[in-house]
Amino acid sequence: MGASTSESDQGESGLGGTPQGDDVDYDLIVVGGGAVGENVADYATRRGLRTVIVEKDLVGGECSYWACMPSKALLRSGHALRAASRVAGAKEAVDGGVDPDAVFARRTSFTSSWDDSGQETWVESAGIDLVRGTARLVGPGRVEVGDRLLCARAVALATGSVPVLPRIPGLESAKPWGTREATSAASVPPRLVVLGGGVAGCELATAFATLGSRVTLLSRSTLLGREEDFAGEAVEEGLRGLGVDVRIGAAPASVDRADDGTVTVTLENGEVLEADEILVATGRRPARAGLGLSDLGIDEGFEVDETMRVVGTDWLYAVGDVAGRTATTHQGKYEARAAGEAIAARLRGEEVRAEAWGDHAATADHAAQPNVVFTDPEVASVGLTEARAREEGLDVRAVDVDLGAIAGASLQADDYAGRARMVVDESRGVIVGATFVGQDVAELVHAATIAIVGEVPIGRLWHAVPSYPTISEAWLRLLEAYGRPGL
Ligand SMILES: Cc1cc2nc3c(=O)[nH]c(=O)nc-3n(C[C@H](O)[C@H](O)[C@H](O)COP(=O)(O)OP(=O)(O)OC[C@H]3O[C@@H](n4cnc5c(N)ncnc54)[C@H](O)[C@@H]3O)c2cc1C
Repeated sequence: MGASTSESDQGESGLGGTPQGDDVDYDLIVVGGGAVGENVADYATRRGLRTVIVEKDLVGGECSYWACMPSKALLRSGHALRAASRVAGAKEAVDGGVDPDAVFARRTSFTSSWDDSGQETWVESAGIDLVRGTARLVGPGRVEVGDRLLCARAVALATGSVPVLPRIPGLESAKPWGTREATSAASVPPRLVVLGGGVAGCELATAFATLGSRVTLLSRSTLLGREEDFAGEAVEEGLRGLGVDVRIGAAPASVDRADDGTVTVTLENGEVLEADEILVATGRRPARAGLGLSDLGIDEGFEVDETMRVVGTDWLYAVGDVAGRTATTHQGKYEARAAGEAIAARLRGEEVRAEAWGDHAATADHAAQPNVVFTDPEVASVGLTEARAREEGLDVRAVDVDLGAIAGASLQADDYAGRARMVVDESRGVIVGATFVGQDVAELVHAATIAIVGEVPIGRLWHAVPSYPTISEAWLRLLEAYGRPGL
């Protein structure tokens, strides 16, 4: 957790070794123009810093073109169709599946056809310079881009993450899909093997099963292992309901692609599967290689402090996926705000408020990261699972409610099924984690995030009255299940 006292940079040794005076082209160089890089540049610029973004590919990064937006666009039509088919009076009008071509067209509109000119215009309008090319650190505050050297008083790495390809004989030469190929697909493979039971694997299995693929999902362990167990179990059931062949504990021993394009996956138990594509969604690692870190004596396994400054440096920051603390756009943007404003404060000689929940500290990374998995059912969670809280030594009590018994949920869909869990730190009387599983629960999680960040006492939460009949009445049921403290 963050430093517990306010920090002032008055009297610090300054930006030792970084360019000063006439040698400085910018106050801040941001390496990587994804959503997080754009945000750190924007916050710093709003505070008066001269800022440049260096981007080697599309400005807007993974989220805009190959991750959040296209994957959710691929999923949304199926969710809308299933929602209608669960309501008597509407379901009679549903007489087919989704139209893949229309779904792909809608997805492509959300990616602006992989054209970043709109983002480039935004960067310009925000007063941020843009340099196209691959950046490499060559000294404190010094960044090489092709034959150009940029010098600044601080540098923020926002290079994102890269997929990890598991070492499976034949996999690489079989030219598997990564998540990029899946989210930018222009046709539906009749048979698709998905490797990985994490968020991306489950979401893309849902999307392609809905689009018409016969999907087999291979996962070494239970699905969505970082969530409460009941979440993974419900998503597994949901996937099976969509016709996905979910194999838990299954892993390929080898993969081969024949000349006709057919992919053969031989499992460790000897079983052989055939498919038209294999999608690898087995995780990502921070994109730190090739940035020149080790030449500067900075370990590629670096850590960041609460202001996202790389430990052991006074000029280098890392935000978003590359920082290794979080792997979502929203949390990366939050880190970007803390870092952008901390950099500006330091360079302007102002007080840096890095204490827990201070203006320049990314404290929520540890205590209140929200996640939504856009499967059917959806999973929306924040903070700690019950098991994780116990591992951290907290004295917690968890209470569950059946969402299907809530009036608002039963109106939302006939035979609504879902569950919610609230994890309460008994010693402090505050919520430290919450999980909602069911149709349309994504919007419920922000109330839990506010309760956790605000450390709202359970007794006070009884005064937060959810409207009737909404699914938010889950909150009332959770409080009833927990009981009123002191009564
Ligand atoms: C399939 C999928 C679905 C996802 N869905 C969601 C979701 O629904 N919601 C959510 O919050 N998160 C989601 N995520 C995670 C989200 O995409 C990432 O957390 C987010 O994109 C990280 O943003 P970033 O700016 O840190 O990195 P990126 O978006 O990856 O941007 C990094 C940028 O740096 C550039 N770059 C790298 N190295 C250099 C260099 N040396 N020089 C110049 N430029 C460089 C890259 O070209 C890239 O544009 C999803 C991820 C995947 C894979």
